[in-house]
Parts: sequence; structure tokens; C-alpha cells
Amino acid sequence: MSILENPNQIIRPEILGLSPYHVQAASGMIKLDAMENPYPLPPALLEEIAQLAASAPINRYPDARADSLKFALRQALGIPSEMEILLGNGSDEIIQIIAMAVAKPNAVLLSVEPAFAMFRMIATFTNIQYVGVPLQKDFSLNLEAMLGVIAHHRPAVTFLAYPNNPTGNLFDADAILSIIQASSGLVVIDEAYQAFAGVSFMEQLTHFPNLLVMRTLSKLGLAGLRLGLLAGRSGWLMQFEKVRLPYNVGIMTQLIAEKVLQHTSVLLEQAETIKSERSKMNTYLNSLEQVEVFPSNANFILFRVDKADHIFEALKRHNILIKKLDGSHPLLENCLRVTIGTPDENKQFCTALDTILNQ
Ligand code: PMP
Repeated sequence: MSILENPNQIIRPEILGLSPYHVQAASGMIKLDAMENPYPLPPALLEEIAQLAASAPINRYPDARADSLKFALRQALGIPSEMEILLGNGSDEIIQIIAMAVAKPNAVLLSVEPAFAMFRMIATFTNIQYVGVPLQKDFSLNLEAMLGVIAHHRPAVTFLAYPNNPTGNLFDADAILSIIQASSGLVVIDEAYQAFAGVSFMEQLTHFPNLLVMRTLSKLGLAGLRLGLLAGRSGWLMQFEKVRLPYNVGIMTQLIAEKVLQHTSVLLEQAETIKSERSKMNTYLNSLEQVEVFPSNANFILFRVDKADHIFEALKRHNILIKKLDGSHPLLENCLRVTIGTPDENKQFCTALDTILNQ
């Protein structure tokens, strides 16, 4: 066999050893697996977007600085005026940009377990040593263990999602502040689910030189546009800018995101509806004696149920797709995660779960 037919000879062993990020087939299903906002934009706004798209100069490269979009984001998300903004093709790409920029030999990326899978995966892509400190059984931070690892490994960067995915909880804010203060490296607070939690570290940026705050528009209703952002001091962001590919945010994303941000109240009202549906879903799941529910500040709920694998497959047969976490980490044994959908979708999920549990 020629060397060109044999990936084992060419591809890095740590890449050969990875499983690809798994996206489940969802065609025709009630899709409650990926923390998307289930609501469309109002027709008048869609009409404005159609006009913008029709006249967009797609023969030209997009604005590489995207100043006008950054201004709209600054207003909509309350980014302190003295902080800079870096844009990414989703916040996934921002994690990658940061990792690439800090990937010296022996650099360490610290996070918790279980956490968003891309922290670990991107550490592997970029040849950074990954350290994941297990959460406590109730998914709170193990502060002592975190501080121990910080003292021992001196991580170049620590990623903490606030609220955390897949657990849905907010870590204790004072514990996070202790981690920021104890770290000689960067601490990135990933606020992907901020709209459903109401709390933020954005205001703390001015107090801590090693703090960065990451957001995304994905969970707010624009997952298909792919727009994430990082807010922080220019000293850091000007270095990350060198790693960012010049045209990473396309013209359609720039134009549409800016337009929708002129109507942020639409997205925030949708987030409020999702929160009230979350509370109904929480009450329902708590009423089931076979189910252990974990409190959520995000747009999804994690729960534990016997034979989670069987329940997950049975829900699929009812045309409902959620996420199976069982098997991905010991703390997530028999755990499933359901994204909050429309009232009708949530009702269908609850009815199907009820039927399955009582069979
Ligand atoms: N951070 C967290 C905690 C997430 O759960 C996700 C998406 N699941 C992301 C970042 C990435 O989001 P996006 O790339 O769509 O901005």
C-alpha cells in the first residue's frame, strides 16, 4: 500500500484516536437535542432580511473588521466601552483561536468534567495538554481541586461555561472569582447560555486583567448564522486577532446579525418564553418519581432516569430527538438532556416520556 493510502502514517496519532464531534440525524424529528431556539423571527423582520440578502455585495469579501456589527453587539450585550471584541465563526472558533495562540510546548488547558466537549477536543487539535477537574456529584465546582491543579500545572488558559453544558447549573460566582485570582494564565468565562441565566461576568472584565468573556448568538435564535464573540482587553485580543483568519465571519452573517440586533427585544422575549417553558418542564419532570432532575439556568434540562439508553431510543421511536449523555462521563450515568422547545414540542416530549415510563 502506498503511504498516501494509509492515514496512520501521516495523521497525528492523537487525531487518529479521536471520535468526530457527533451530530445526530434529525430529519423529520422534533429536535430537542442541540439547545436551539425553536422560534422563527417575526415576518416583518424576515422581509427586511430578505431585502438585505438580495442587495448584499457577495462578489466582495466581507468587512474584515466588521466594525458596524461589533458596534451593534456592544450595544446589545452591554460590553464595557474600554473592552475590545473579537468575532468568531461561532464561539467554537474562538475557543480554537485562543488555544492556537497559547499553544506553547507544555501549555495546559484546564476545564471541568463534564463540560462542553469542544474544550477538550480543541486542546487535542492544537497539541495542548488538557486537564479536566471532575465536578462534585451535584455538578458544583470542586474549588480545592481546581486551585490545586492551577498551582501545579499553571494552565495557560482555563475555560468555564457559566451556566455549564451539559449540566445546566451556574457555578458559584465566588468560587469562579477565586479561580480567576489564583490563575497566572487566562480565564475564559463561556456565557453561551447567558440569556437564560440573567447573570454575567461581563462587568468583572474591568477588575481582572486575565479575564475574558465569551458569548454566542447561537442559543438566542441565530445558530445557523454562526456568530460568537469574545470580550476583553485589547492587549489579549490584538494577539488573538493575528490568529483569526481574515474573513472568518461572512457577509450574510454580518448583515443579518446586525439587523436582528436592532431588534434584540424579539430575541430576549423569546428567551423569556423559553425560561417559562423551562419552569413548566422542570415541574413536570420533578413530578415523575422515576426521574432525578438537575436544576437548570440554561435552555435545557439534564435528568437521570433508569435505563436512559432505552428511554432515549424509545423517544426516538416517538419522533423525539434529545441528547444521551449516559456513557460520556461517569458523573453522567443514566443522564439525558432535553432542550426546551415550543410549548407544543415540550408537551409532546412529556406525553411520550410518560407513555414510555408507564409501559
Ligand atoms: N460553549 C458552550 C458551553 C456550548 O454549549 C456551545 C454549543 N453547544 C458553544 C460554546 C458553541 O456554540 P457556537 O459555536 O454555536 O457559538
